[in-house]
Amino acid sequence: MNLIILGAPGSGKGTQSVKLSKELSFAHISTGDMLREAVKNETDLGKKAREYMQKGQLVPDELVIGLIDQRIKQKDAERGIIFDGFPRNINQAKSLDKILNENNKSVDTVINLETTEDVVIQRLCGRRVCKKCGAIFHIKNMPAKIEGVCDHCQGELYQRADDKEETIKKRLDVYTKENAALMKFYQENKKFISLDANHDADIVYKEILDLVNDYNKNTSRAATSA
Ligand code: AMP
Repeated sequence: MNLIILGAPGSGKGTQSVKLSKELSFAHISTGDMLREAVKNETDLGKKAREYMQKGQLVPDELVIGLIDQRIKQKDAERGIIFDGFPRNINQAKSLDKILNENNKSVDTVINLETTEDVVIQRLCGRRVCKKCGAIFHIKNMPAKIEGVCDHCQGELYQRADDKEETIKKRLDVYTKENAALMKFYQENKKFISLDANHDADIVYKEILDLVNDYNKNTSRAATSA
């Protein structure tokens, strides 16, 4: 099963995708994580992407599409994939369909995490990420046991450069501009489900898991009766 999690920055895509990918043993493909890694390692891709990311703009499509093309061929993607932060526009969505098709895969479900602007701004401003393992915390909603230290690996927690207020506004503008068309694209394909993601992460997680389990039950029922 291949799943896309859509939503604004701060809607909880990353938190939910990490948890879900562990539970289901699916590959978690986050273009944001892959790009941050490339920037950190100063690869050619990282050098090209850095400026766009600092400004809260989208990195050019051909760069991110190239990443996806390679990543979905890896072994851990065989069982299932959770796409987090990709696609971000129609061109990327169409390219994803093409790439998946070439690899005998398809998008099975798109879950849209709906949030209000005040909630995402509060979440993003307080978000802290582990430098070592990438685990996500929040200074109020999900605090680390020891301030500034990761609960899982004792790595140092930091605030992403693009989680500062000015860049957050830019990222939300970009999201608003691109997302309506993206949702329409998946609604027309009848694979689209929206969830209220203003709730606590645990409540949203349970709803996502129920959707995935229902999907799997229906698919195996259909396969048995065929
Ligand atoms: P994220 O971690 O998903 O919030 O992404 C952080 C930043 O990485 C975004 O603001 C973009 O600059 C870049 N980025 C991540 N995913 C994409 C994508 N699918 N297309 C273009 N740029 C992306």
